[in-house]
Amino acid sequence: MITLEPGQTSQLSPLVRRIIAPNPGVMTGPGTNTYLVGNDEVAVVDPGPDEPSHIEAILREGAGRIRWILVTHTHEDHSPAATPLARATGAQLRGVAAPDDFYQDLIFKPDVALSDEPLLQTREFSLRAVHTPGHACNHYCLLLEQEGMLFTGDHIMNGSTVVIIPPSGDMKDYLDSLEKLKSLPLRSLAPGHGELMPEPVAVVDGIIRHRLTREAKVARVLAEAGGTLDELVERAYDDVPRAMFPMAKYSLWAHLLKLGRDGRAVERDARWDATG
Ligand SMILES: [Zn+2]
Repeated sequence: MITLEPGQTSQLSPLVRRIIAPNPGVMTGPGTNTYLVGNDEVAVVDPGPDEPSHIEAILREGAGRIRWILVTHTHEDHSPAATPLARATGAQLRGVAAPDDFYQDLIFKPDVALSDEPLLQTREFSLRAVHTPGHACNHYCLLLEQEGMLFTGDHIMNGSTVVIIPPSGDMKDYLDSLEKLKSLPLRSLAPGHGELMPEPVAVVDGIIRHRLTREAKVARVLAEAGGTLDELVERAYDDVPRAMFPMAKYSLWAHLLKLGRDGRAVERDARWDATG
């Protein structure tokens, strides 16, 4: 078995290299994956946390050829290195500035905002941006067209369930964004955390199934008896370790908001009940 280690650099394909940032943890797995796309001219995808040793590793690997810095979203483990890296290289910053909610890098200011369109075209490669709100409203996946490799940021992680934190996170948007990926010509998924994943459609279908199964359980629990988030998490997530409850509560809240929008749940004074 191959283990992923902070600081490790790997050549994943002819066009793509990966450096793992030194920020392993419960939410970040082995650490944030920073990808370098291209050889003659380089685009950096998700430069990661503002850690001097990691920025040095990116600069060393980029060898004076970094022209673009691309950010899938602006959570603290993905974008803070972008600003110092742009200063050091003169590279163009692309991404979408953060809404002012939890866990955001508010320093990040793109030179050019991403939108749902072709993003970059060099002699070697082309990248396309795909808006995928859900994990965060300013989240984009990036498709390397020559290799069918999709940089998924935190839309899809390998080895853990993505946390959806309202209001920037939205469960209905998340499911819609997963469906949207299935129409793309994908050959592999390159997540923000964890190893490359082959068979993209099977992975995406598995995540959709997992979320809908959880939604059904939340609806069932709610139909038995309403309650506060603290009460409901005990019953709707009785299959996960209690240590995960603080994070599970965010996803539970996101499920309840979706059920609310679907007309199946209602909130009064911090207490949720099934309708009808
Ligand atoms: Zn994130």
